[in-house]
Amino acid sequence: MITIKDVSHRYTMGKKAKETVVPVLSHINFHVQKGEIVSLVGKSGSGKSTLLHIIGGFIKPSSGEVAINGTEITSWDEGRLADFRLQHIGYIFQNFQLIPSMTAAQNIELPLILNGTSKQIRNQKVADMLRQVELEAYPHHYPSELSGGQQQRVAIARALILDPPLILADEPTGSLDSDTEAELLALIQKLNKQNGITFFLITHDQEVAAIADRQLEIKDGQMLQAKGVMPV
Ligand code: ADP
Ligand code: MG
Repeated sequence: MITIKDVSHRYTMGKKAKETVVPVLSHINFHVQKGEIVSLVGKSGSGKSTLLHIIGGFIKPSSGEVAINGTEITSWDEGRLADFRLQHIGYIFQNFQLIPSMTAAQNIELPLILNGTSKQIRNQKVADMLRQVELEAYPHHYPSELSGGQQQRVAIARALILDPPLILADEPTGSLDSDTEAELLALIQKLNKQNGITFFLITHDQEVAAIADRQLEIKDGQMLQAKGVMPV
C-alpha cells in the first residue's frame, strides 16, 4: 500500500546567500502492506509529519521514491496528485480541521461535491457514513456544537467518504480524553477489520501504538524498527 524507497528530505530556508539547510529525513525505507495498521513514533521534531506529507504527496522528497497502491507518485505534478489523493488517501489530523461554517453532514459531503457526485447519491452516502461513525443524531450540528470525540468522528467520516484504501493520521488522539480516545481506537480497528482499510498513524501515545500490527520509530532522521516483523 505504501512503499518508501531511500527517501531523504531537507528543508531549505532563507535567501540564497544566507541559505540554511535543515536535514530531516535520511535514507528512509519501509513498506506498509494492504490491511495493516502501522504506527510511527518518534520525538517531537524527528520528522514524522514531514514523512506523512511526503507519503500524501504534499511535499516532494529531496531524493528517493514514494509509491502508493503500486503507483509511483514522486514525479507527478500537483493537479494529478490532487486527483489521486482524493481517490486513494484520507487524512485525519490532531485538530480535526473541520470547516467551522459547515455542519457535520456538510463537512462529510464536501469530498463528494469535489469529485462531482450527484446530490441523490451524496445524501445517501452521507447518511450511511453518519451511521458508521455513530453520529446519525448529529447531522445538523456545527463543529463548535460537538465534543472533541464527535468532531474527530466527523473528520474520519469525511476522510472515508470516497472509500480510500489508505488513511494517514497525524496524532489523531492528541486532542482527546482517554474515554473518547478508546472509542476512536475501536472505530479505527472496526474500519480496518470490516472494510480492510490500511492505517498509518503517527502518535506519541502508547494506547494508539498498541492497536498497531507494527510499530515504526524514527530517530535522528532514520527509521528504526521498534516492534513487529518488517514484510519484505
Ligand atoms: P514531527 O512531526 O516529528 O514533530 P516535523 O516533520 O514537523 O517533526 O519537523 C521535523 C523538522 O523539520 C523540525 O526540525 C522542524 O522544525 C523542521 N520543519 C518542519 N517543517 C518545516 C518547514 N516547512 N520549513 C522548515 N523546516 C521545517
Ligand atoms: Mg508532527
